[in-house]
Amino acid sequence: MSKKKIISDVVCPFCGSLCDDIEVIMENDTIKEVKNACQLGATKIRGNRNSKRLTKPLIKIKEEFVEATYDEAAEQAAKILLEAEFPIFYGFGSTEANAHRESIKFAEEVGAIWDHCPSVCHGPSVLAIQEIGIAGCTLGEIRNRSDLIVYIGTNPMEAHPRHMSRYTTFPRGFFREKGFQERTVVVIDIRKTETAKVANHYIQIQPNRDFEFLSALRAVVRGQTLKVETVAGVPREKIEELAELMKNAKHGVLFFGLGLASTKGNHRNVDAALSLVRDLNDYTKFYVQPMRGHFNVTGAQNVITWISGYPFAVSYLKGYPQYNPGEFSLTGVMSRQEADAAVIVASDPVGNSPKQVMEHFARIPLIVLDPYETPTTQLASVVFPVTISGVESDGTAYRMDHVPIRLRKIKKGPKGVLTDYAVLKKIAQKYRKLKKENRKKAPKKEW
Ligand code: SF4
Repeated sequence: MSKKKIISDVVCPFCGSLCDDIEVIMENDTIKEVKNACQLGATKIRGNRNSKRLTKPLIKIKEEFVEATYDEAAEQAAKILLEAEFPIFYGFGSTEANAHRESIKFAEEVGAIWDHCPSVCHGPSVLAIQEIGIAGCTLGEIRNRSDLIVYIGTNPMEAHPRHMSRYTTFPRGFFREKGFQERTVVVIDIRKTETAKVANHYIQIQPNRDFEFLSALRAVVRGQTLKVETVAGVPREKIEELAELMKNAKHGVLFFGLGLASTKGNHRNVDAALSLVRDLNDYTKFYVQPMRGHFNVTGAQNVITWISGYPFAVSYLKGYPQYNPGEFSLTGVMSRQEADAAVIVASDPVGNSPKQVMEHFARIPLIVLDPYETPTTQLASVVFPVTISGVESDGTAYRMDHVPIRLRKIKKGPKGVLTDYAVLKKIAQKYRKLKKENRKKAPKKEW
């Protein structure tokens, strides 16, 4: 007889919104239905049928993958790391906080660089926040209080599909009982996105002119008069109207995405956005929030910061943490051909990196932990299949507003498949054992 079970309050492990109201209907440990999630989240929870699931560790011998046990694969990975002089650990946006902690501890022991997704996405936002500071609040506060929502350079309707319905625009809140009727949504973007179509106001700006636009808006907020008719293609009156709207909000929030942080100006654009919000706080309560992509990229940033004091691009090559984005970030280290081995966890950099980076990935030994076959696993020397965090194993993830949320295990992973944390621990144990043996074998120094 089939056994049906309903699991409620499941957290979706796809994007930084970490929706925690998902309901999963199970029948004999198989997911039958996923309720409340958007299509992106439901596909991740059900299992991506378009990608090949990995179930056995693999070691590449003479350009062919050979199945191995976890112990054999861990030994091979440990040997690679023992020989490496400039290893890099990278990824971590789609795994849980225990795996972050274990990987950082291990990177320090090995003397490696530890880097994660911001070095190719929201790194400029992190740099700007370090310079200016951030007037932040939680998504819960926004849901209950905000009457003005401004999205710039981001399209949540497609990238974070439930962001507007759960946190910002449509839900009824404690102080916003009429939901969307009490809120105004403004979208500032270079094209009319799906989000712009549902907004109350859409302001189209010219590509790569975000800094000018935000600086002009800031000047108007501070009481200056613009002496030009348009800025970044936006008429002066529209900028003045927006400044008034923002100053008169009771509780406003500015969300920005990679359309701001990754265009010309980079961290200076974010700097302008953060400064604008700081200025607005002379008139009203206003907050600002980056739209983070992978479900636990904020977690990786928190964990490396509370361990090393730095948010990304951290080098342990000298035995203590050093921070220098560019010098110690993935793209720099790989394009200068410095790294001589890499450990990639929960990420597919080969599928998403510039050509020189991809070419260097092909030259060096890669140790990859992933539930699915990806372009990165295909280039790897050792591949470890792992469970899907938040579906087949639990853990902690940090929502984009830095709120930690406990992920639920919904079902068992494939037989014998370990978590990221367990695999990292296994490699570290093998590494210590081999290092000790090598030390014993080494001839004693004559003094
Ligand atoms: S919005 Fe993001 S977290 Fe929420 S269900 Fe969709 S993919 Fe999952």
